[in-house]
Amino acid sequence: MPDPTVPDPKVYLEELTSRGPEMLDDLESLVSAESPSSDPAALRSCRDVLEEMGTRLLGRRPTVLPDSGGPDTGDGPATPGGLLWRLGPADRRPVLLVGHFDTVWPLGTLRRRPFTVQDSRALGPGVFDMKAGLVQGLHALARLRATTGADPAVAFLVTSDEEVGSPLGGPVVTEWARASRTALVLEGAAGDGALKHARKGWSFYDISVRGRAAHAGLDPLEGRNALVDLARVVVDLERLGSADGETTVTPTTASAGTTQNTVPEHARVMVDVRSPDSAAQEQLDAALRRLVADTARLPFEIGGGINRPPLEQAHAREPLRLARTACARLGLPWPGSARVGGVSDGNLCAATGTPTLDGLGAVGGGAHAEHEWADVTRLPERAALVGMMTALLDAEAPHPGV
Ligand SMILES: [Zn+2]
Repeated sequence: MPDPTVPDPKVYLEELTSRGPEMLDDLESLVSAESPSSDPAALRSCRDVLEEMGTRLLGRRPTVLPDSGGPDTGDGPATPGGLLWRLGPADRRPVLLVGHFDTVWPLGTLRRRPFTVQDSRALGPGVFDMKAGLVQGLHALARLRATTGADPAVAFLVTSDEEVGSPLGGPVVTEWARASRTALVLEGAAGDGALKHARKGWSFYDISVRGRAAHAGLDPLEGRNALVDLARVVVDLERLGSADGETTVTPTTASAGTTQNTVPEHARVMVDVRSPDSAAQEQLDAALRRLVADTARLPFEIGGGINRPPLEQAHAREPLRLARTACARLGLPWPGSARVGGVSDGNLCAATGTPTLDGLGAVGGGAHAEHEWADVTRLPERAALVGMMTALLDAEAPHPGV
């Protein structure tokens, strides 16, 4: 078995730079295949585009992961599973590259906001979150093989439902993170290309109260007002957050009642919670449940809970060091690193204890916003960074049989 090698940095970066136009074409194809998380047919078409692209670049077909339960489970049409390319020696712990191809943009956004390039910015739904990251990752691996003649041990995993909390992809991400040396997450970078060394944890709650309906004029005393009861809870929720904004508790959407003249039987609120570390996240979870139990006077239910634990800085320490080495070898300026409030599947990777670094995808901005953009001039260098890190990690690995 040949020992996989680390590419000559200069040659590798030049190779990728010469592929800039091809990367841009691939980005256009991927962005032009709209893929809202909630639309199985659209997801399937986008997955086909990605499968063809990856097969061309990596020289082999991926494993297509199983769909969700689908119509038999009463959940509507099945969400298509993600794609997994396993490259390099199967007996070596892989480096996990992880991303997703679903976006938050509804079908038809493309008509209004088609893929375009203005100056150095590529625009279009999902261009930054995170289709450019996928293109960079695929080209990084393709050029690694072309430059060194061998594939490092890699699992390239792309999921289909990250933007809706990864009900299908999450367990697969966890499984592969556990089996991998390090997880490199291809989500878009923080400001000016900064890597993401920590993310807050995310919990969400679906709190509902059940009262009794009655005519508001004829039998007001017969009713039990679920809205008034839930309102008490909502007001009290605010004090669970911390004054410094580190832990936030945000009631986001609410609904109650049926008609203007009926005492509402049902009331419901969704609550978004962000926490800086696991201890704070668990304390908050307990405190929120206690508060609802103490405050509500009518029967209540709490759905949801902790969705993604925090990606804590300690998880990113080793890969961050390696990113510095990779940047230095490639002659790239250090992009810096940041902690961000948003979550990704990187949180799930870190929760397994596997070293994890996020934000290795596109340089750009405006995730989930109309002005979303990715810097096309920096596609090659970001690909080089993630490819060089992968090669260095693989070279550090114990080589069975060598
Ligand atoms: Zn994303």
